[in-house]
Amino acid sequence: MIGTQTVFVLDASTCLILTHLEYAQDPETPNLTVPRTHARYRGQSLVRTDAFIRKRKLSRDEVITINHLLKSRARRYVAAANKEWLYPERSFCGEWKDIAQVLLPQHELWRFGGEIYVGHADGSTQYQDAFGRTSGAHKYLQRERRATDHGPNNFCGCGSGRKFKHCCKDLLESDRPSWDVYGIRERNLMFCNAVKGILGLTAGKGWDDVRRELSDEQVKRIHEAFGSLWPEDTDLVELVPRPRRGAFRAVYLGASDPRTAEATVLGWLPYFDEVVLAHPFINPFGMKPDFSPTKSPSQYKAQTLKNVLLLLTLEPYIRSGYVHLIPDPGDFNPHFGMSALQMAKERTAGWKAAQGSVDALKALAKDDHGRFLRRLPESSLRGLIRECKPEASDAQIDAAIAYMKSSLAAAPYALLVLCRIPRTTRHA
Ligand SMILES: [Zn+2]
Repeated sequence: MIGTQTVFVLDASTCLILTHLEYAQDPETPNLTVPRTHARYRGQSLVRTDAFIRKRKLSRDEVITINHLLKSRARRYVAAANKEWLYPERSFCGEWKDIAQVLLPQHELWRFGGEIYVGHADGSTQYQDAFGRTSGAHKYLQRERRATDHGPNNFCGCGSGRKFKHCCKDLLESDRPSWDVYGIRERNLMFCNAVKGILGLTAGKGWDDVRRELSDEQVKRIHEAFGSLWPEDTDLVELVPRPRRGAFRAVYLGASDPRTAEATVLGWLPYFDEVVLAHPFINPFGMKPDFSPTKSPSQYKAQTLKNVLLLLTLEPYIRSGYVHLIPDPGDFNPHFGMSALQMAKERTAGWKAAQGSVDALKALAKDDHGRFLRRLPESSLRGLIRECKPEASDAQIDAAIAYMKSSLAAAPYALLVLCRIPRTTRHA
């Protein structure tokens, strides 16, 4: 909260008081219990400890006030060099709110706020603003509030696409998803538009053109668009849909793959009002160049095609507010991501997946592999078939290749770009 302050006892005669910038600069701000700008759990930040105000000396009464605060909030032990000091409440004669006056920094505020730029030895740079934001996304993803947002029959200001009376109206302002930045649904729709623009679908190209022409550059640009809509300092908590009276939601935890998710997710909609599932796209932020979809895009081509197909299949349902594609919360909070993974590991120690699930995954992998083989040039396919079936006639091999190529053309999530023969397949 804006008014939250933290007091650390450093030794018998020194304490460190941490105050949020917004509160320090404007202690009279009327609402001290709203979240501070860029409030988050376990976020990382850079702090100039050399700017800490060190010159302040406390009077006897101020020390008593702070001791009273510490004792009132102590969970277990308090200690003092003198027994009398253990009872500050006997000498404290103000009210609880008077403590705030003592805790406020009075001078030298000019050293706080502003922006920090860091240059590293390897040439990389780092930036953060006064609130620890690193991407500037709060500016370009900022939504203009419309005066009509509060009309009961107008679209709700949170961007859910619902009428205000069916969305945020009954929620306290502090409980609503953010009205200041674009929400999950809006970002997903922006992403759909970006993807269609990058792939030329808005300029009249068809899906088969995309399958034939998907380039590294397109894969790179798609993932750049995804990364800029979901930068590392995204506050996912302020965006996620809130519980809503009359809305029955399900979370789909399976793989986000167009071959299964489409059937499952859309198949669930008659039973649930809304389905939440993980975004299939990978966020390029913080990935090593060898694995990054923006730095090494060619390895992501086949997956990108499948992801785009899933995205476009779900688009009408996203627009209507039935489906929410939500990025991995671990992208924005690595500590949370690692804790969740660790808990999953502990929970599943010694656990074996049901045979049915394993078979389903194996079938998907086999399907991927089969499609990969069919994308090989005809000459390579001919060689492979001849190796496996030396007795086959030329006519039989021609027929087999024709069948493989026609089944490839019939699968909408198959790339039609020819692929190179990999070493492992050659040996197999
Ligand atoms: Zn709303």
